[in-house]
Amino acid sequence: MMNVPLLVSSMLERAERLFPEKEVVSNTDVGIFRYNYAEMGRRARRLASALHQLGVRKGDRVGTLAWNQYRHLEAYFAIPGMGAVLHTVNIRLSPEHLVYVINHAGDKVLLVDQDLWPKVEAVRDRLQTVETFVVMTDQSLPDTSVERLYSYEELLKKGEPDFPFPRDLDENDPAGMCYTSATTGKPKGVVYTQRSIYLHSMALGLADVLALSEADTCLSVVPMFHVNAWGLPFAATWFGSKQVLPGPRMTPKAIAELIESEKVTLTGGVPTIWIGMLKELEQRSYDLSTLRTLLFGGSAAPKEMIRAYEEKYGVPVLHAYGMTETSPVVSVGRLKSHQQGCTPEEKLELKSKQGLPVPGVEIRVEGTDGEVAWNGKEIGELLIRGPWIADAYHQDERSGETFQDGWLHTGDMVTVDEEGAIKITDRKKDLIKSGGEWISSVDLENALMAHKDVFEAAVVAIPDPKWQERPVACVVLTEEGRGRVNEEELLEFLRPQVAKWWLPDKMIFMDELPKTSVGKFLKRALREELVERFGL
Ligand code: ADP
Repeated sequence: MMNVPLLVSSMLERAERLFPEKEVVSNTDVGIFRYNYAEMGRRARRLASALHQLGVRKGDRVGTLAWNQYRHLEAYFAIPGMGAVLHTVNIRLSPEHLVYVINHAGDKVLLVDQDLWPKVEAVRDRLQTVETFVVMTDQSLPDTSVERLYSYEELLKKGEPDFPFPRDLDENDPAGMCYTSATTGKPKGVVYTQRSIYLHSMALGLADVLALSEADTCLSVVPMFHVNAWGLPFAATWFGSKQVLPGPRMTPKAIAELIESEKVTLTGGVPTIWIGMLKELEQRSYDLSTLRTLLFGGSAAPKEMIRAYEEKYGVPVLHAYGMTETSPVVSVGRLKSHQQGCTPEEKLELKSKQGLPVPGVEIRVEGTDGEVAWNGKEIGELLIRGPWIADAYHQDERSGETFQDGWLHTGDMVTVDEEGAIKITDRKKDLIKSGGEWISSVDLENALMAHKDVFEAAVVAIPDPKWQERPVACVVLTEEGRGRVNEEELLEFLRPQVAKWWLPDKMIFMDELPKTSVGKFLKRALREELVERFGL
């Protein structure tokens, strides 16, 4: 067989050739911007050509600090296409982490959205490798003393619209980079290759994965800096799906309006986004009938959220699991055909699991005495391997803790049922060890969030002299729930659902829960808050 290299540029070329008229829609501050893959391709080539003129060569890192918008999509193809490395920087990093990841990756050029420029300006003296800054705008440039600052649109004018992407790249060359959002310590860098992006994108098209296709209209709510928006922009372009990018205004209302107006068929984001949108749907009605898949992942979703979308709004949900280290898709919660006859309640239970490993990904579950049985009960750490799973962190001495014996050790504690479906019980560091037994914080959170007056709940361990650790629940009530429900009632609600010794020792009502830069509960900060504010 031909040993044709698997290159990102060939994905764009297909869209240019086969779907030149297909729309790409991008929400901006000044309204909706529309163009198509023909124009997108020409502009991506202009960008590659202009970056080449600026001195960017194969293997150089080019950073982006940007929302989900069309110029960012152009960068997604221009940079790997020319053999450089697309480093999507998380726009919500602290200034320290921002400096760290840009220096650590060694970004040579940084493409920045206009409204995010102040973040860069604030730390620019500490950026050691960036030679050129490009502001992604057609407006006037920010008032700054930074030299070698260009306007994206001015730069594009200098680029060639038919710049040829090199064909002699190696498929194992680096093509992309993301850093983990680092709930502890410094962010860790993961380098994707041309090959890994290609194969991961192909997997998204499989019928038993996302079944993403030309017929879809794909809205990536998940940020393009969060594991490449889960790979959706790459795959959607390759397959010629219509693409919708929500831009900087990511309110539930704006998202619901886009789904309705652009007739979105598939959208994806973390559960916090969809929980937030449920509130909006209660207040106003939207036509969501085109949606065939609402994809969520990144953290556990309460079962009641799934129920509300499916039963109340008729929107089919799909639960996926993955990490920055895994490109990210590892598993999706699809039912097998023989499970289609299950009761609605059983189906809900199945859909709330993280699901079956997708084709191409192998798993192992390791307990204290070796591999655990797939019986849905025994808990162990999930190990993964496959062609889009990282085998090291980028220049990081912490690699050895995570990558051992050819497997990625995820730090996620799971059970796997007889059918092969994964269920995450907790992150290793969040499991609560009480009297020698484990309590799953995730299960407790889900049980609590099933209460109609609970908006969000996070459960963490506090040290206990007798039991070693005990669970404490931090609860945010809905507006209606405030003053209507108290600790005793919530405990009463939990009692029939969990073992007696699982019941939280305390419930602390808060106005909001600290979250990570990608919208997950930040349990480390929560533990600190419990110590500082509540003396626990
Ligand atoms: P970070 O590790 O920096 O938080 P990632 O987005 O890479 O950023 O997070 C990966 C982790 O998120 C996984 O190891 C797992 O703990 C959690 N996670 C991802 N998807 C799910 C899911 N569907 N359900 C529960 N937890 C999930």
